[in-house]
Amino acid sequence: MDPIISVTGLGKTYGSGFVALRGIDLEIRRGEIFALLGPNGAGKTTLISIVCGIVNPSKGRVLADGHDILRDYRAARRKIGLVPQELCTDSFESVWATVTFSRGLFGKAPNAAYIEQVLRQLSLWDKRHAQLRELSGGMKRRVMIAKALSHEPDILFLDEPTAGVDVELRRDMWEMVRQLRDRGVTIILTTHYIEEAEEMADRIGVINKGRLILVEEKRQLMAKLGKKELRVTLQ
Ligand code: ATP
Repeated sequence: MDPIISVTGLGKTYGSGFVALRGIDLEIRRGEIFALLGPNGAGKTTLISIVCGIVNPSKGRVLADGHDILRDYRAARRKIGLVPQELCTDSFESVWATVTFSRGLFGKAPNAAYIEQVLRQLSLWDKRHAQLRELSGGMKRRVMIAKALSHEPDILFLDEPTAGVDVELRRDMWEMVRQLRDRGVTIILTTHYIEEAEEMADRIGVINKGRLILVEEKRQLMAKLGKKELRVTLQ
């Protein structure tokens, strides 16, 4: 089957001269949950920011469902939802308005039934009239996911979705992600936590110092995790 995301020879050197990515090749399979695991500064956010078209690569190519992210940005971006690391949700807007507006930004016709379905799935329906600034951190995270899903993307990127959240919310997030995958959404998430990758992913990629050092089916990777070298890399 064709990969839904195809990354070839991707490199990124920031203006400061810092080399954040060094020749990444990666294919994401349609319908899988792929976890990108790596320590602070490994290049996880840089990689997904390039794949989502937010940051320009210095070299290499990204195809999202066959669309080149640089040459055919709008078509590629319509396929992709992104939940960024930061919660930019202190506004006076209601949950409903925020998610509906986000859909409009992608040029999609209004679809109240779809937005209702997303809000119900994320347990946000009862909060649809609440202003974002009134919500708890956990609810704000849910709103960020609802925004990312507003335009019915086939691919969802979650950048460290459970960083700094309590155990209960982490388990809720895992459950939500599984449900989305079961509805056919391909999921790519970044994480520092080995146990999160183990719990969630079908396949796991390990990135360190801008290099993708391995990509494995979860079971094979877990067998290797006993090895000292890999543990050191992930710390
Ligand atoms: P974390 O887990 O801490 O979020 P990460 O794996 O997502 O880390 P990135 O945010 O992609 O890592 O950063 C990779 C490297 O690139 C880091 O050393 C970071 O300091 C550097 N970097 C990121 N953005 C910029 C920028 N705009 N200019 C210069 N260097 C940058």
